[in-house]
Amino acid sequence: MFAAVRYNRTLHMSLIVVGSVAYDGVETPHGKIDRMLGGAATYIALAAQYFTPVGLVAVVGDDFAQEDTDLLASRHINLDGLERVAGGKTFFWAGVYSADMNDRTTLRTDLNVFGDFNPKLPESYKLEPYLFLGNIQPALQSSVRHQMNGVKVTGGDTMNYWIKDFRAELLETLKQWDFLLINDSEARMLSGEYNLRAAAAMVQAMGPKTLVIKRGEYGAILFHGDRHFMVPGYLLESVFDPTGAGDSFAGGFIGYLAGRGLDLQESHLDFADLRRAVIYGSVMGSFCCEQFGVERFRTLTRQEIDARYTEFKNCTDF
Ligand code: AMP
Repeated sequence: MFAAVRYNRTLHMSLIVVGSVAYDGVETPHGKIDRMLGGAATYIALAAQYFTPVGLVAVVGDDFAQEDTDLLASRHINLDGLERVAGGKTFFWAGVYSADMNDRTTLRTDLNVFGDFNPKLPESYKLEPYLFLGNIQPALQSSVRHQMNGVKVTGGDTMNYWIKDFRAELLETLKQWDFLLINDSEARMLSGEYNLRAAAAMVQAMGPKTLVIKRGEYGAILFHGDRHFMVPGYLLESVFDPTGAGDSFAGGFIGYLAGRGLDLQESHLDFADLRRAVIYGSVMGSFCCEQFGVERFRTLTRQEIDARYTEFKNCTDF
């Protein structure tokens, strides 16, 4: 039975999130915004903080607006690891979606200060038990992992660029991961297998015993050991902007695990907890799409999250 998760920020363990904090320009059939807060780590942290305390590791320039810092701080996201480079510009990404919003074309990627990102963890982060490594160079992901002295659960995501051009480095990094979230085309590219079940077995053998293969609006498949669980996508009435949905899914998934203090070691884990984590992931991804950028997270409440979780349960129970 589902139980609402509440946590006490002073008592609970916490999650470290590493990745991009950005400004995004996004165009969807519903409109166009030239510049707004974005970045994978931003979405992951904003989604995860509903479940567990979060510490952010990222880099921005001195153009990063006070109101954006204030939004993250207002959600009690620890910003000791947010490096500000004087005279530098924040990473900028722009993309446009197809009419059905299933395809996205990148129009611009200005790495700016993100190009020299070399994450250094504040002392206060190093003993935290949960680590989510966002989509950055695999060697940097490894370097962060090595700075964490007491980490219990490590995982993250990656993308086709690293799979294709940094394969050896990525395979070395993945050996240390407990979980990996990737989309179906990336799982196929990483494994060389078209069949997703075969692809999952290959990827699990690379390190992460828990694997979530995301399938956009069609949902996701969770693999853990020799078990799997399929979760459909939540049927939204209207999708405004899918940017950050995958990252919000990741935030819900790892946030739930961290908030519950769950370990991914086979012998300690109830598979039902892992299933709940992917449902929370789907729920957070769906909320993200309801408004442009991070807008939905300005008003979203834990009550709304739990209500959608229950609705999800009812829609898929048979
Ligand atoms: P998603 O829609 O979940 O793939 O995430 C989109 C977010 O990823 C946007 O807010 C971008 O700022 C960020 N992003 C885009 N390209 C990159 C990249 N090469 N590295 C890191 N973050 C990126």
